[in-house]
This record gives sequence, C-alpha cells and structure tokens, in this order.
Amino acid sequence: MNLQSFGAAQTVTGSMHLLTLDGRQVLIDCGLFQGGDEMEARNREEFSFDVAGLDAVILTHAHLDHVGRLPLLVQRGYRGPVYCTAPTAALAETVLLDSARLQVDGYRHDLRRARRQGHPDDTVPPPLYEEADVHRALALLRPSLSFGEPQRIAGVRVTPHRAGHILGSAYLLLEGREGRLIMSGDLGNRESGLQPDFTLPPQADAVVLESTYANRTHRAWPETLAEFSAALRDSVRQGGKILIPSFAIERTQTILHTLKTLMDSGEVPRMPVFLDSPMAARATHEYFEYGDELIPEVRDALQSGEDPFRPNTLHVVNTSAESQRINRYDGPAIILAGNGMMTGGRIQHHLKHHLWKPGTSLIIVSYQSPGSLGGRIVAGADTVRLMGEEVAVRAQVHTIGGFSAHADQDDLLAFLAPMGQPHVWLVHGEDEVMAAFLPVLAAQGLKGDIVPDRNNVDLLGAGFPGGTPPGFTATPAPAGGVVAGGE
Ligand SMILES: [Zn+2]
Repeated sequence: MNLQSFGAAQTVTGSMHLLTLDGRQVLIDCGLFQGGDEMEARNREEFSFDVAGLDAVILTHAHLDHVGRLPLLVQRGYRGPVYCTAPTAALAETVLLDSARLQVDGYRHDLRRARRQGHPDDTVPPPLYEEADVHRALALLRPSLSFGEPQRIAGVRVTPHRAGHILGSAYLLLEGREGRLIMSGDLGNRESGLQPDFTLPPQADAVVLESTYANRTHRAWPETLAEFSAALRDSVRQGGKILIPSFAIERTQTILHTLKTLMDSGEVPRMPVFLDSPMAARATHEYFEYGDELIPEVRDALQSGEDPFRPNTLHVVNTSAESQRINRYDGPAIILAGNGMMTGGRIQHHLKHHLWKPGTSLIIVSYQSPGSLGGRIVAGADTVRLMGEEVAVRAQVHTIGGFSAHADQDDLLAFLAPMGQPHVWLVHGEDEVMAAFLPVLAAQGLKGDIVPDRNNVDLLGAGFPGGTPPGFTATPAPAGGVVAGGE
C-alpha cells in the first residue's frame, strides 16, 4: 500500500495523491496549485507517472485545488473513469469552466502586454487548458459515489463517507487485500457552514489526513455569528459600502444564508445585497439542486418553498456593465464578490472605488494567504496596488475567522478516535503546522508521519524516525490560538 503525492504534500495546495493498492494505481484528486507564481509554476510540470497507466481517478470534492489539473491529465493521455459524488460533478463543471476562462483571459492579457513591450508572442506561456479540454475531462466523470455505499473501483472496495467540508465532499475508505486505508480529502469544520458534520469513520490501518489547521482551534459558531453581526452594524454606522470578498463555493452560500437570517431577525438592518459573482450564482443553483445534503434548517426551508440563500434585498448582478453600475448606487449596501483573496475578479474594481474612503467597510470572511492582496490588507498595508494604481487603504477592515470550512485540531482528533491505532500520514498542511501536530498525535499513542513531496512512502511501513522525512527542517508553529479564515 504505497503513496506518492504530487501536490498537497508539505503544502496546502495542488492535491494529487497516487495510491498503489493491490497492484492497482488510483489517483486521488487532481488539483491545481494556487497562490503565487512559484507555486503555480508547478502546474506546468509534466506528470512524473504513467498517466495512461492509471486504473482510476477519484475526486473527493470540487474545490479547484482538488480538481483543477484534471483537464491537463486528460490532455496528457488519461482516458479512464473519474469517480465522484453527483454534487461534486455538478460543481466541478462550474469550477473547471471558470478556471479555463481565467487561463484564457490571463493569456490574452499577457499577450497584449508582451506585444506593447515589443516582445514576440512565443515569450508568453499558453493557457494551461481551454474550454474544450474541460469538456473532454467532464465527459470522463462518473458521478456514482454515494455516501455509505461501497463500490468496486479498479478491484478495490471504495466507500465514500460525508466529509462535511463543502457540498458533495467525501472522504474515502479503501479496502484491499493489503489493508484498510482512509483518504480524508478535506474535512469540514464541525462548528460552521451549511454542511452536516462529517460522519465518524470506521477502523482503519492507515489514514492520509489533511492537516490545514492541525495546530489551531476555530472560534465557536455563536461567537462568529455575533462577531459578523457586530461588524455589519458597525459598518452601517460608517455609512459607506460594505465589501465582502468571498469564495464562490460554500462561503458565498453560507454568507447569503447568514445575511438572510440576521436581516429577517432584525439583528442587522435591511439594506441592498449585491451578489456580484456569476460563478457564485451558478454554484448557488447546485445548492438548491442538492438541498437534501445540507443542514436540517436549510433543507427544511428549501422543502417549504423558501429560498434560504436569498435575503429579501438581494440583487444578482450578471454582466460586468451592471457590476460597474453598482458603484453609482448611493447609500449603504453590501457587495459580495469574488475572488475571496481579492487577487482577481470583480471585487477588484469595487476595492478600487471604495477602499480609499474612510466610510467603507471591508469584512473578511475568507482565508487570505500572506502574499495575496487580501493578505497585505490584513497585515495593515497603507496602500495597495490595484488594477495598475496605488490605492490608499482607509476602509475599516474586519476579519472574521470562524467561517472556515476546514477541521481544526479538535475536529481532527475526533475524526481519528474511532479508527483504532491507524498510522497517520499528514498531507495538506504547512510544514510548521504538521510539525506541531506530530507530538499531539504521539500523546494520543498514534504514529504520525509527514508525507514527503513527491517521494514514495509505504503506508503500512515503519515511517520516518521522529515522523519527519529526510531533509525536513521546519520548526513547529506555536500551538493553540484561534485562526482566521481557511479554505
Ligand atoms: Zn477543499
């Protein structure tokens, strides 16, 4: 039972794990690297395994960092099945088409710039993939995974279970002659969001565990709600626009539902809410379609014909001309737009119009990586570069951490508890965070190891001395603390 990780090993992005089980090769997730040029350069590397020799691909959920390299896999020769749940298939279509559009738009933009600077066209790298590649990848999807129902995939018995992270998200139990393995995918925060909690796993010999927030505890949900509503009331007093940058999947639907609840109960005054993200609007459609998957409160509302994602004052903005017109709207209003880290998308022109005004409020409900535009604002930058201009940061900035869709340390330990004595292999975490989690695992009597980037490991073997692969130098991040954000 071997694992080789070509993404989300010693980092939190680009999830791609090649599993060899009973002599079969199964790829778990095929995600895009995101966050900065250095990371994103890895998307252009050749796959260092025989793509056509894979027996199957399984997707745990539809986030871009778990599905975004699928069109590349197909471009480079994969023709086999790609298994996932039905909601994951539906969301993957939205996510991958949007990704292709961004790739092509980015290419055209870079090409125009290169021509203006007198450089030849071939100095601009072509888009990673285009819409046609996405359609070829979507044609391979087999949305046959259903929670709790075992299925034979490449000779291996695979049972998907509810991961509680985003709509359709699953973790996988794989049972072969060699043993029982759990692949966690991304696990949900049991305190927040629209998803019911992850189901508790069965006994297993080994688990490949995400560890994004393995050294932290999230703020409790009632505190998060109180913090969010206080930030909104404070923002209304400021009198200006309220900007909420948000990820299109799960976070936007959670925020819409929360806004509706707070406005209906009178806790927050009614004001116009502009949803300025066509991708988020499309994703919200899938939340309707698969409403039975959501928490009882939302499911019941949907069944009684209500729209739990529609505050009474919601305006869905479609075209970019409509998006521009919002800036001429007078008086307080909430603008919910992508992308979540403010590195692109329509939020950018709203920031350009409003970030320099002292009456504006910026409410941050999503993870901000340190190098992103949002990360610089959170770090207290006086000015930021936006659409080619320096813009002063005069807006009030509120950061609300508890909306994270990822498990924290308590969630991860609760997830491990029913498995018995599994060998725990850590992925999808920063080195310092995983290093901090190893002693926590040891205190539970569990052998923990950090999965090395790209190197093969025997999941049922002895692991590494001290749990860290050769050459590992990171020091443990301080444990504890309440965290902001996180996807
Ligand atoms: Zn995810």
